[in-house]
Amino acid sequence: MKTVTVSLLAALALSGGTAVAAPKPKAKPVAAAPALASEPVEVQAAALRDAALKSDVAYDFVAQMTTRFGARPAGGEAERKASEWSVEELKKMGFQNVHLQTFPLYGWERGAESIEITAPFPQKLVGTALGGSTAGVADAEAVLFETYQEFLDSKADVTGKIVVILQPMARASNGSGYGRMSGSVRSGGPGVAQKRGAVGFVLRSLGTETDRFAHTGATTWSDGKGIPAMAISTPDAEALRRILKMQGKGEAGPLRLRMASGAKFLGLGQSQNVVADVVGTEKPNEVIVMGGHIDSWDLGTGAIDDASGLGITMAAAKTIIDSGLKPKRTIRVVFWGSEEVSQPEGFGDAGGGKFRDAYRDNLSNFIAAGESDFGAGKVYAISLMPTEDKTFLTKLGNVLYPLAVYIDAKAVPTGGVDSGPLHESGVPAFDLEQDGYDYFDVHHTANDVIERVDPAQMKQNVAAWTATVWMMANTNVTFTRPEIKK
Ligand SMILES: [Zn+2]
Repeated sequence: MKTVTVSLLAALALSGGTAVAAPKPKAKPVAAAPALASEPVEVQAAALRDAALKSDVAYDFVAQMTTRFGARPAGGEAERKASEWSVEELKKMGFQNVHLQTFPLYGWERGAESIEITAPFPQKLVGTALGGSTAGVADAEAVLFETYQEFLDSKADVTGKIVVILQPMARASNGSGYGRMSGSVRSGGPGVAQKRGAVGFVLRSLGTETDRFAHTGATTWSDGKGIPAMAISTPDAEALRRILKMQGKGEAGPLRLRMASGAKFLGLGQSQNVVADVVGTEKPNEVIVMGGHIDSWDLGTGAIDDASGLGITMAAAKTIIDSGLKPKRTIRVVFWGSEEVSQPEGFGDAGGGKFRDAYRDNLSNFIAAGESDFGAGKVYAISLMPTEDKTFLTKLGNVLYPLAVYIDAKAVPTGGVDSGPLHESGVPAFDLEQDGYDYFDVHHTANDVIERVDPAQMKQNVAAWTATVWMMANTNVTFTRPEIKK
């Protein structure tokens, strides 16, 4: 109750209300921001939280990004133009030290592609090539496996055949069903199939819906020496499973597929991170990092993956800039380049790794790093590395509880693809855990468009980031630093 009362007063002050709104009228009547500036950090955080709940900045940013640039494949022209445009926008918004960090990247591009059943029941399927896979035509008998493990365990001769994996992905609010499969069947499946003599590889899309969309995603970089590898939509995988059953009963003959992929390897090009600061007034060397990735798969417009992550973290910082309050520590917003890629073995990291490398000498001053790369749904918990500062946790909890967000003391934050390299180098991660129950209905499909973003949920998300980052930037909190691995 206390939190609500205080936050209402502070929000009034923040929105330009009169000095009457200031809870402690000890000073003479002043403008809104200075009144708030003298309040305790948790009162400020609550006011910022409530301002973020009213802000359309994140949603508008996603609309702009997806409308102006559409899909933004890693290392491509749209990604570069979107990055250059972002630099100008962030400067206009009042960010400081706004700049690009460029780095080399091997490019891959989808070409014309198709997949169809040629026997026993000829028909077209909805499928799409995996990123980093090789072009070619495979016209052959298909061998179906219910699960990836079944394929790995099987002694079946797949020489000259197309391997098809029908395993469905588990739906889980925290997205855990995805990690278990993207790192195994999608990354490794095509290479294993090729080693066993297969001429093509097909997997059921790593998606949780039954809409007829194929979900792309990166497989291990094949350098044009692999076999065609595709994901088919979940309804098409179900159709193949029915055929498998019919074969078992002697009601259908051998299944034949024809897959054609015109994927191209573009050689060595360039990608870039966008970096923007709100410079700290007292301890500018101490840095809180947050961001998302600016590249996207080519099928949709990358609204949920991951223009939303850019919008959410940028809007959190902009809410702070617009309040007139100044953080004591530096808040650094990053639009990481080229998250959605595999690269040749031994080539090195893409955006997240290059960002870490650029700040090697100051990483011991990085207080915490978080990324938003799980759509625009509601935040329900926050996980942090351990801290001695129990007051910080109490205050942060009080600011977040009205948003229906709790502090998840059991979870160990590790960051994602982009902030993970920082974590590996000793920077504490923090994760704002989102409800991703339907995230993989859309992820990496042509259906990843702004219509899948819920503006109200997105505002709650921005509010949670805003309050959390303000609390980190304006206290002396430090977190247990993870072991340095790289
Ligand atoms: Zn992403």
